[in-house]
This record gives sequence, structure tokens and C-alpha cells, in this order.
Amino acid sequence: TERTLAIVKPDGVIQKKVGEIIRRIERKGYDIIDIKMVQADEALLRAHYAELADRPFFPGLMHYMMEHPVVAIVVEGDNVIKGWRTLMGLTNPTEAAPGTIRGDFGRDWPGDEVRNVVHGSDSPESAQHEIKLWFPELNN
Ligand code: ATP
Ligand code: MG
Repeated sequence: TERTLAIVKPDGVIQKKVGEIIRRIERKGYDIIDIKMVQADEALLRAHYAELADRPFFPGLMHYMMEHPVVAIVVEGDNVIKGWRTLMGLTNPTEAAPGTIRGDFGRDWPGDEVRNVVHGSDSPESAQHEIKLWFPELNN
């Protein structure tokens, strides 16, 4: 079993998809270990997205992620890191398959933003790093 960090991004919260997304996590059989609503600040997002800092879309990404509180969730299950990314679908909502969260609820945005509803850690190392960042109070 392993853990991953899932985030319902601002557009998912604004569209009132939090319940639907939790339903999909539970339907897949994963366990919710911890969950909270967070207004992300610049320091948290810079640490979270450190590897994207010099990409052209980074300022837009920071703005998007701070425009409304998000819901951060620690999810546990067998192969959950890969499995949660499968439930999310591809990064670009236009390419994400129908039936995935991004395929069903994501939007390409005028300009340079990709409003894709959810986040998921992409490796065991990033999962551990991101869970510590978003849930410093969770000891394990
Ligand atoms: P996430 O890390 O949010 O789960 P991801 O792993 O599918 O998404 P990353 O490459 O890590 O994709 O990019 C992080 C986020 O940055 C994306 O989810 C998206 O919101 C934004 N992003 C990525 N690529 C682009 C792009 N080319 N243009 C605009 N925004 C982008
Ligand atoms: Mg990523």
C-alpha cells in the first residue's frame, strides 16, 4: 500500500465537484487518511511546483492555484499514486478521456492556463515530499 497527495484545485471547488471527486476516490476503494481546505500561499506553491519555476506558464499557474481555497487529501491504497493519476486523466483537459475527472470537468482556458480540476503526485518521492509540505501536522 502507498499514499499520494490529491488536491481539488480552485476550479474544482468553485464548480462544486469536491463531493463527486471524493465519491470517485472511495468508489475505487482508496482510503482517505486526512483532508482539509487550504488557501495556498506563494511559499507553499513555490515549494510544491519547484520544478516548474522557470516554465512560461508558471506565473499563471501560481495565480490559478491561489484564486480560491483548495481541498488537499491524503489518499491511501494499493498503487494509488498511479491509480489516482489514471482517475484524473491527462494534464490537458482536451486530451483527457471522457470518464476521467479532467476529461469530464476540466477546461482549456483562454490564454495560457490549463484548468484541470485536480492534482496528483507523480512518484513515491514526490508523494512523500508533497504530503509533508501540505500536511506537516500528519506524523507517520
Ligand atoms: P499536477 O502536477 O497538477 O497533478 P500534471 O502532473 O498532470 O499536473 P505537470 O506537468 O506537473 O502536470 O504540471 C502541473 C500543472 O501546471 C498542470 O496540472 C497544469 O495546471 C499546469 N500546466 C502544465 N503544463 C502547462 C502548460 N503547457 N500550459 C499551462 N499550464 C500548464
Ligand atoms: Mg505534476
